[in-house]
Amino acid sequence: MNRRAFIQNIAAASSGFRLFAQESPKSEWGGPVVDCHHHFRRTPESNIAHLDGAGISNAMVLARDSSGEQVAAIIAQYPGRILGWFAGTDITRPEAEELSTKAVKGGAIGFGELKSHVAAAGPELRRVYALAAELGVPVLVHFQEVPHTPTEGTFATGFKDFEAVLKAYPKTRFIGHADAFWANISADYANESAYPTGKIKRGGIADKLLGDYPNLFADLSANSGNNALSRDPEFTGGFLKRNESKLIFGSDCACSDGKGGGISQANNPGASRLAGKCVARETLTLLRNTLSPSAFRTVTWENAHKVYKLVAT
Ligand SMILES: [Zn+2]
Ligand SMILES: [Zn+2]
Repeated sequence: MNRRAFIQNIAAASSGFRLFAQESPKSEWGGPVVDCHHHFRRTPESNIAHLDGAGISNAMVLARDSSGEQVAAIIAQYPGRILGWFAGTDITRPEAEELSTKAVKGGAIGFGELKSHVAAAGPELRRVYALAAELGVPVLVHFQEVPHTPTEGTFATGFKDFEAVLKAYPKTRFIGHADAFWANISADYANESAYPTGKIKRGGIADKLLGDYPNLFADLSANSGNNALSRDPEFTGGFLKRNESKLIFGSDCACSDGKGGGISQANNPGASRLAGKCVARETLTLLRNTLSPSAFRTVTWENAHKVYKLVAT
C-alpha cells in the first residue's frame, strides 16, 4: 500500500468510526432513525424520553427562533442525540425576517414548522421562501384547509396552486407537511375533510409535484402522513417507491413515553384513530413493513442528512 492509499484508508476508517459513534445507541428499527418532526419539549429529559421510548436514535428538533440556548443545553447534556434544529417564527410579525436570520446565524438549519393563518402563496410566506433561498436553508410548511375545531382556523391555504410557488422559488427547498399536503396525494380531494379515508385516486397534486419539482420534499409526520400511507395499501408501496428520495421521516408525536402514553392527540378529534398510540411507532412500523431495509434507511436517515444537512453533535 502506498502512502496515499494508507492515508485514505485511515480517513475512511475514522469517518466510519464517527458514523458508528453517531448512530449509537442502535435503534430497535434495525439501524439509526432520525425523527425530523420532533417538537422541542420543555425539559431535556422529556425529549430524550420520547426518543428512547420509541426506539429512535436521533432527533432534528422543531423549536422557536429564540430556542438556541435551550437546544445547546440538551446537546451538551445528551451528546449525539440531536442532529439539528429548525426555527419556528410567527411569520406575520413585521420582524419575522430579522428573527429568522438571527436564528440561522445562531445555528438553526431550517425554518419551521411555519403554521400561520395565511395563504401559502401570500406575501408573509413569500418573504420567508425568499429568505430561505438566500440563507440556503429548507422551509417546513404546515398546509391545512379544514379546521380541526370550530375556532382553529386554517393554515398556509391554497396548496392546489402551490406549483406556482415551486416555480417562483427554485432555490428554496420546500418540505410539505400536514393535512392538505397529504390529502392531496389523492386527485379527488376537494378540501372536504382534514383526513380523507378510502381509496386514493391516482394523480393527486402532492404526488405529482413531488415527482416534477426537485425543490419539493415531504415530511411523513403526524396523523396526516400516517393516514395517507394507511388508507389505501395498494397505493402506498408505489407512492413510497417513486418518491423515495423525497420523503423524510418525522413523528409530530405528542405522547410522553414513545409508547402512546399521556395525551397523544389532544385538541384534534379527527385524529382519534391514533389516540393512545405513538405516531412515531405507528409510522415506523408501517414503513418497515412496506419498504426494503435499504429504502427504510433512505427515508428514516439518509434523506434527512442530505436535505437538512444534519451534523453530528
Ligand atoms: Zn404541523
Ligand atoms: Zn410518541
